[in-house]
Amino acid sequence: MTKPLASLSLDLDNKWSYMKTHGDAGWDRFPSYLDVVIPRVLAVLAERRLKITFFVVGQDAAIESNGAALRSIAAAGHEVANHSFHHEPWLHLYSKEKLAAELTRAEDAIEAATGRRPHGFRGPGYSFSQALLAELAARGYEYDASTFPTFLGPLARAYYFLHSRLSREQRSDRKQLFGKFSEGFRPLRPYMWPDLPQPLVEIPVTTMPLLKLPIHVSYLLYLSQFSQTLASVYFRLGLLLCRMTGVQPSILLHPLDFLGCDDEPELSYFPAMKMPSSKKLAIVADAIDQLAAQFHVVTMAEHASAFRAREGMRVPRNMPQPNSVQPISS
Ligand SMILES: [Zn+2]
Repeated sequence: MTKPLASLSLDLDNKWSYMKTHGDAGWDRFPSYLDVVIPRVLAVLAERRLKITFFVVGQDAAIESNGAALRSIAAAGHEVANHSFHHEPWLHLYSKEKLAAELTRAEDAIEAATGRRPHGFRGPGYSFSQALLAELAARGYEYDASTFPTFLGPLARAYYFLHSRLSREQRSDRKQLFGKFSEGFRPLRPYMWPDLPQPLVEIPVTTMPLLKLPIHVSYLLYLSQFSQTLASVYFRLGLLLCRMTGVQPSILLHPLDFLGCDDEPELSYFPAMKMPSSKKLAIVADAIDQLAAQFHVVTMAEHASAFRAREGMRVPRNMPQPNSVQPISS
C-alpha cells in the first residue's frame, strides 16, 4: 500500500530575528548561526534521503557571509521558499505597497543567493492578511503556508511576553503574535483561498486533528523537557489521528530544534534551549523517522501540486490574465 503524503518544512529563522522579536539589543548587526545549523539539518535529511522546503528570510540572503550556507540548501535539491525580508511578525499590519516591496526584496535576495525564485510563502510568526494573500496570488505563488490552526496562540503569546523585555509600543506591534484564539477554527486540510485574482493553495501548519494542539517539532522539544516518552507518544498520537481523519500532515521544523545550549547560550529564554544539542538532535531524528515511517515525505511545493491535481485544479505557472488573451487571427 502506498503511504499517504506529508510535507516537511523548516522556517530558517536566524538568531537576529529572534533577538529582534524579543527586543534584544544588537539584532541589527544580524548575528547568524546559519553556517552551523544548515550543515547539521542537511546531514539529518541526507541520511534519510528526504527533500524538504526551507523558508528563507530575505535579509539573510542579502548578507554575503550567509551565501555559501544558503546555496548548499538549493544544491542539495531542497525547495527554497520565501519567509519575508524583514521577518516581522506584524506583517499583517503592512499596507499593500509595503507588502509588495517586502516580497520583491525577499524574492530578489533569495534568488540572487540561491539561484531559485520562491513560489511558496510563510509569514513570520504565522502572520498573514487578505492583502498579503492577494499579493501572493497576483505574483503567481503556488501556495501560502502561514495559517496555524490552534487555540493555543494567545497562550504562546502570553508565555512569550512573560519572557521578554518589550516596551508598550513593541508589545502593541506584537499583539497578534502567534494568532488569535479563533485561528483554531481554521481547517487542517489544504484548500484554495476564495476571492483572489489567481488561484492560491493554503497548506496549514498541521496541528493535532480534533484538539488543534501543536504537533510541530519545537513543541515536541518543549514537552520533552518534562518527559521524552510523553513527547514521543504525543507525536505518535498526532500522526495516528492524521491518518484516521485523512489529514496529510505538514510538519514544521525550526533551526533551534537542531541547536542546544552548547551552541547558543544567549537564547536560553527559548523553550527547550537549556537542552544540549545532542539530546535535541536525537528527539528531532526520532520525530522525522516516525513521520517518514508512516508517510511519504515531500516538499511543500509537491504537497500543493498534489492537492491541485487531486482537486482537478492544476493551474500552469504564469497563467495569463484574462485581458492579455489575444484573439486568434486567421
Ligand atoms: Zn519565522
